[in-house]
Amino acid sequence: MTKIVTDEQLIKLYTTPSYLVAVDYPKKEVKLHTVDCMLADPISSVGVKPSKARENKTGEFWVSESRDEANSKAEEIAKNKGYTYTICPICDR
Ligand SMILES: [Zn+2]
Repeated sequence: MTKIVTDEQLIKLYTTPSYLVAVDYPKKEVKLHTVDCMLADPISSVGVKPSKARENKTGEFWVSESRDEANSKAEEIAKNKGYTYTICPICDR
């Protein structure tokens, strides 16, 4: 797993077949996306913003090329923090 701390880092991964684990502290939610999902795209107005989340301590982000590994990480974080874990309905395919 690679920890994502800036928007640029995530933008660079856009064309790689990878999975994003997005942790939202205020919403107490962990979501699994493919990196090409619009909700995982920092450039999109509806996308995640790792730089801002890090600055405001409102979330954390992890990327893996393995869906299993990303899924395990998401489940682990959700379990440890007592958050809800969901697979994004938009990019789940
Ligand atoms: Zn998604």
